[in-house]
Amino acid sequence: MTAQTTPLPAATPVGYPRIGPGRELKKAEEAYWAGRIDHAEFARRTRELRRATRARLAELGLSAAAAAPESFSLYDQVLDAALAVGLVPDRFASVIGADGTVDDDGYFALARGTAEQPPLEMTKWFDTNYHYLVPEIGPDTDLHLASARVVDLFRESLEDGAGTRPVLVGPLTLLLLAKAQDGAPEGFDPLERLDDVVGVYAQLLAQLAAAGAPWVQLDEPALAADQRLSATELADALQRSVGRLAEGADRPQLLVTTPYGGIGDLLPALLATGVEAAHIDLTRGDLPTTDQLAGIGSTQLVAGLVEGRSVWRTELPTAAARLAELRSRVAEAGGAADTISVSTSVSLQHVPHTLELETSLAAELVATLAFADEKIAEIVTLAGGQVEAGSVDGPRSVPRTFDGVRVDSVRERVAAAGPADTERDEYAVRAEAQRRTLGLPDLPTTTIGSFPQVGEVRAARAAHRRGTLDDAGYEQAMKDEIARVITLQEEIGLDVLVHGEPERNDMVQYFAENLEGFATTEHGWVQSYGSRCTRPSILFGDVHRPAPITVGWSTYAQSLTPHPVKGMLTGPVTILAWSFVRDDQPLGDTAAQVGLALRDEVTDLEAAGIRIVQVDEPALRELLPLRTAEHDDYLDWSVRSFRLATSGVEAATQIHTHLCYSEFNVVVGAIDALNADVTSIESARSRGEILEAIDPGAFPRGIGPGVWDIHSPRVPGAEEIADQLRRARAAVGPERLWVNPDCGLKTRGYAETEASLRHLVQATREVRAEVEAPAAL
Ligand code: GLN
Ligand code: ZN
Repeated sequence: MTAQTTPLPAATPVGYPRIGPGRELKKAEEAYWAGRIDHAEFARRTRELRRATRARLAELGLSAAAAAPESFSLYDQVLDAALAVGLVPDRFASVIGADGTVDDDGYFALARGTAEQPPLEMTKWFDTNYHYLVPEIGPDTDLHLASARVVDLFRESLEDGAGTRPVLVGPLTLLLLAKAQDGAPEGFDPLERLDDVVGVYAQLLAQLAAAGAPWVQLDEPALAADQRLSATELADALQRSVGRLAEGADRPQLLVTTPYGGIGDLLPALLATGVEAAHIDLTRGDLPTTDQLAGIGSTQLVAGLVEGRSVWRTELPTAAARLAELRSRVAEAGGAADTISVSTSVSLQHVPHTLELETSLAAELVATLAFADEKIAEIVTLAGGQVEAGSVDGPRSVPRTFDGVRVDSVRERVAAAGPADTERDEYAVRAEAQRRTLGLPDLPTTTIGSFPQVGEVRAARAAHRRGTLDDAGYEQAMKDEIARVITLQEEIGLDVLVHGEPERNDMVQYFAENLEGFATTEHGWVQSYGSRCTRPSILFGDVHRPAPITVGWSTYAQSLTPHPVKGMLTGPVTILAWSFVRDDQPLGDTAAQVGLALRDEVTDLEAAGIRIVQVDEPALRELLPLRTAEHDDYLDWSVRSFRLATSGVEAATQIHTHLCYSEFNVVVGAIDALNADVTSIESARSRGEILEAIDPGAFPRGIGPGVWDIHSPRVPGAEEIADQLRRARAAVGPERLWVNPDCGLKTRGYAETEASLRHLVQATREVRAEVEAPAAL
């Protein structure tokens, strides 16, 4: 072993945002992809971003060698690790150059696809809103060092200061996240290639040692969050991967991180691998017991005491007390208590860069917030030992006590809500009442809500926000757009119309801006994937609705047409999933507040003559906890909040919901329990798998499996849609089937939207005629 002597600095986060405080990465990438800048300019801009990031981290106190994690990635950290070891699926063989390496364009080809090849699949990174690219591997994939980017970045960091700590997704997690590539033999498990992958990591470590890196970080979140392997299997695979790397002589010192949950009984196995430092998530996990620490020896512990994925400021006295308790347990176990490093629970890539850019948040709220830079200040302060220890059981984050955090009337209403508030009439009664009032044909056609957001609509919203377009001008611009969208839908021949959602920038932020209890940021961008960023709202207080939100737009749309217009709302679970949510009460309590606020909107829509209301829950699957033991509780409160929102209406009012993102099978029971009259579901990409999961006996209500994949600009032909409808009708029966696209049309253009919707209506008419034909004989 080479550089045994440098300890890991006393304060160091697991990772840092890479997008840049002004979204520099996004801007550079989008300019490069669009051909507005050449590769040299792109490289210059990303180099400048890394220089600025390193300078910023040094300024925050991470100036020592290896104190700052090297968090830069051109697109995704999983893709980086996959390419480092040559995990390139065969269909992308052409991106590997003659020297065996992959350049930036090859890298982007895997991430974004090419004219010939679809990109790697993208999926959620543990239970966060970050999405990674799923590596593909087969029994014969030629594993080799295909990218030394991590070495280049380390060398570059030496030009900027003392040098960062190279970070790689570890070999075990990489393979647990990978999938067998198309054509791999039945039953092939990516883990079969663990030894080969580890061999390439060893070469990479040797190169990093040669470049002079004292430490390298391997992220192994699978230890905390994997649901596939048993604890024994994980411990064994850990020894075969990380343990083997630690045995090698030609390498930097190793830090293994275990973010996204506690590792509990796996800690002894991690300590037994012989790595020099081990990180544990102490926000989700408990302090380890002295027994679990028995094998600590000289391993340096890295204590993830500061929550890295929330925006709440840490209650430092509590954290200091927990640190002191950890020290005494480490000492008792025979370890070196004074070498413990203070860290974050997970990478700070899940929070915005800095609070400093926010000028419009209330001062009392700001005093309780911490973004990435402020969280680094917290770990530096804790490591400095200047904080007087409070109680180990004290609050984890700074208590929020200002106006709006607790609103008695909201709390009383939640407390008073009983079983009757989540029940509607029997479905049969509802269905009959709805048939009478709505008079819809079989296989009714509709859309999911949004229509293409054309330039003028976005410009009008921006001008209104800036104050250059007054309220009256803005309202007129939106009404013009609504009228256009209604006329178009009537002309195409859809049965249930929508107003098109032109007034919404984002389906969650729009409601956050119009409900009490939320704050919105100006620059609080967080990477969702690649160059895509979102700006989550901050839910800090009791949620209620000061005034109707959507009623004006929906009734205006309804006034233009005799066809039913759907009211469109975002559901409580999705509002929570895509916001930073208060940590001072159970999520279920917060969800109930949001549910009741939406209930007011639903009943106001009904009172204003809207006969159908859709409450979207695209994030129902996404917020499902990693641990199966927590599923029931989650499903209980998520279902209840939806039902609180939607059960205040008459039998004749039809409630719709919409869900997207595949893998529904785990939440099928919950979808049924939502008790919506009609559920539209994304299914074009999963080729109708959802239909098999939904048993007509158990799910007797309306269902609209999406028949047009709106994520692609491709216009589906009428025959193709008709075929899907025939299959769907065979699976669920003609009485329950609705016809709709997969998701909202916001990101599509008008040309393909119009063409596709015409095909959808044409296909429906064809298939309807087939249903009716026998009766006419
Ligand atoms: N009603 C929303 C829309 O059409 C739904 C979006 C979604 O499911 N993500 O845009
Ligand atoms: Zn959707």
